[in-house]
Amino acid sequence: LFLSFEGIDGSGKSTQARLLADHLKAAGRDVVLTREPGGSPGAEEIRRLVLEGDPDRWSAETELLLFTAARRDHLERIILPGIERGAVVISDRFADSTRVYQGTTRGDLTKTVNILHDAVIGIEPDRTFLIDIDPEQGLRRALSRHGHEERFESFGVEMQTRMRAAFLGLAEAHPDRIVVIDGNHAPEAVAASVQSALP
Ligand code: C5P
Repeated sequence: LFLSFEGIDGSGKSTQARLLADHLKAAGRDVVLTREPGGSPGAEEIRRLVLEGDPDRWSAETELLLFTAARRDHLERIILPGIERGAVVISDRFADSTRVYQGTTRGDLTKTVNILHDAVIGIEPDRTFLIDIDPEQGLRRALSRHGHEERFESFGVEMQTRMRAAFLGLAEAHPDRIVVIDGNHAPEAVAASVQSALP
């Protein structure tokens, strides 16, 4: 089983991914909790290349290729082996993040994003939990972290609002896969909603 968590920065998706992993482990399941960008040693190196340092180092297209390379490595080394041995693989972000961030933030790269996904990734999670939160609250939470990933602190409320709309648009386009979870509640309450939406 392959599950992903998506949402804007500060949505609480990482907390929810961890809570779901704990819940499933307590029930005796074999769980692989992983994240993107990153999740494998090679992909974590690429994450650092993209998220740290000069924000203008890479063009939008190069950034998309780097994130796609990272996902391919993560897929080969962590996600597919986990699925094959029957584990529940939970990824904190997956391809929907690329559709939203690389696909829409620095110009419209949607077409290239889709071509690359089909060519070298090719799989979707069985279920995606979109943790939906008020953009201002998300930004407040995100700014209290990510000290070393400065490029993303410049996003601002307007950008967060656009990202949220893009995620909700994906949910509308893929209603069988993506479940929208109201993240404006206490973590335990959100976790209960997630559990009740398991496939
Ligand atoms: O989810 P996490 O906080 O680890 O993401 C780190 C940063 O990378 C976030 O600020 C997010 O906006 C950005 N990101 C991105 N493109 C992706 C995934 C994440 O720009 N595909």
